[in-house]
Amino acid sequence: MNRQCEICEEELFEDGLFCHECNEEIHRLVYPVVTQTEGYFLMSIYHYDGIIRELIHRMKFQEGRYVSRFFSAEMVRFLRENDISPQGVSYIPMHKKKKRKRGFDQAKDLCVEVSGQLGVSSASLLTRAKATRALYSLSAKERMHELEGAFTASIREDEKLWLVVDDILTTGSTIREASKTLRKAKIPNVLFLVIAR
Ligand SMILES: [Zn+2]
Repeated sequence: MNRQCEICEEELFEDGLFCHECNEEIHRLVYPVVTQTEGYFLMSIYHYDGIIRELIHRMKFQEGRYVSRFFSAEMVRFLRENDISPQGVSYIPMHKKKKRKRGFDQAKDLCVEVSGQLGVSSASLLTRAKATRALYSLSAKERMHELEGAFTASIREDEKLWLVVDDILTTGSTIREASKTLRKAKIPNVLFLVIAR
């Protein structure tokens, strides 16, 4: 069977998931957004819309799981372009109940692939200590309450530069709670990187 471009479905002759034209279009969307959370940097590679939104959505299903290969390569490219060299890679985990339902955790997929490409170790720095309700329907205050104590850290007092990846950033409250947990665990050097926000 001929391979097809993920976006335009034209026959694909080159390596990767997209044809040359579509690839050009994706790259035009790229710009990093940098903010801070609990004193840690938080970066995002794309805007959450259009092709990127569609691809992230696809990645949440077993049949689309391979899309993480594209995004992990993008994360590595982004890190290299910005001269960032993490010494370990981790991710924002989903609760085990949710993972059981889905069968996999796409943030963990990204973590494993990014660490492999960088040649550094990967670790589950954070564990979801409790299942949280869907956050989008909650107010900012309810969200904070819902997320309180949502994570526990698996290591303490580690000086390495850790990269913590996730797929999307919506309100930022999940990453904020994760940051608090890592602060408390005395992990001083953390960079959060998401695909899109
Ligand atoms: Zn195409």
